Amino acid sequence: MKIKAIETTPLLVPYAQPYYWSQGVTRGAEVLLIEIRTENGFVGFGECLATPTAKGVQAFVEEAARHLLGQSVFDRERLMTLCYQSLFQFRGNCSAPRFGGQVLAGLEMALWDLQGKALDRPVYELLGGAQRRYVEYFGFIQGSEPKDLAHDAVALVQQGHRTIYCKVGRGDELDFEIVRQVREAVGPGVRLRLDPNEAWDTLSAIRMIERLKAFNPEMIEQPCDHRSLSALKQIKDASPVAIAADQCVFNAVDVCQVTQMQAADLIVLGLHETGGIGPLMEAAAVAKIGGLNICLHGLYETGITTCAAHQAGLAIPNLDDANQYMNHLLTSDVIASPDLSLKDAKLGLFDAPGLGFELDPDAVSEAAARHAEHSAVTDNA
Ligand SMILES: [Mg+2]
Repeated sequence: MKIKAIETTPLLVPYAQPYYWSQGVTRGAEVLLIEIRTENGFVGFGECLATPTAKGVQAFVEEAARHLLGQSVFDRERLMTLCYQSLFQFRGNCSAPRFGGQVLAGLEMALWDLQGKALDRPVYELLGGAQRRYVEYFGFIQGSEPKDLAHDAVALVQQGHRTIYCKVGRGDELDFEIVRQVREAVGPGVRLRLDPNEAWDTLSAIRMIERLKAFNPEMIEQPCDHRSLSALKQIKDASPVAIAADQCVFNAVDVCQVTQMQAADLIVLGLHETGGIGPLMEAAAVAKIGGLNICLHGLYETGITTCAAHQAGLAIPNLDDANQYMNHLLTSDVIASPDLSLKDAKLGLFDAPGLGFELDPDAVSEAAARHAEHSAVTDNA
């Protein structure tokens, strides 16, 4: 089954409300839709993050696409290695595994979608089969002020979330007040995870964790700069609260280093870091050998990624029981089915072949027009 054509379309889907975190304010999902067509009429879809610019990512995806035309969709691993070596490891003097993962994820995802559609099986069955009947997701609370975050936390607990995830790293006193009010609102029985997104240095992290432990957080995610595993290890050794690695882990090599150093208690990782589903499964296997679970990481994505990540989540043996879900932030989605709304914080098995979704052509057109309009405004600014 040979690849005949590859198209890319930048999309923009706004969030219902902006989310506030240590790196600023994020207002929507900007992605590049990937569409791969085969000679016998199958179409596979994926998406990659369009950051820092859609045009830049699009140029790299188009370069990668040249290596895929005329090739078999079932040669996924060899083809993705070829794309990686040609673009992100060229002659040994261009080494960009992290950006490479981001760029190639959409193509990799679309190849899985095609394989599943060609075989008429959902992707999780191609990954070894479902390890569970559903994936459970944490409640990612939204708002700027502590009272708004606390209010949202109560609503998410009422919807069935057992674990609440909260951004901090926005200043010591604001962080303290956010965590205090959220804990007070949800009560002692709800699990609480805090994510400063690299905002703290080692000393700040140790000081803040000491203050915040009164509110019984179960985990602190990536407290310090992602470039230093030794700082993460130092914080973990000093912390009475479990520590997760997020931005310092992009692939199986990073996971291996974290496990060897014992620098974290949990690995937070997604398709857009690893470069797709295959490399995520590989990283999960390394984490499993090191005795750690994988928590699915969410980014600025549409239902395409939600479905792809969910397929992997169903098949990863060492999956955490509280994963990141971003779909509820979108004002609308670009897929027509399945219904991705959570029931008791869970999403069950998908029966449809491939990644399991049907694209909504009208929603895609709207999101593409919105992106074009947004780019024109940005270009003229
Ligand atoms: Mg994080």
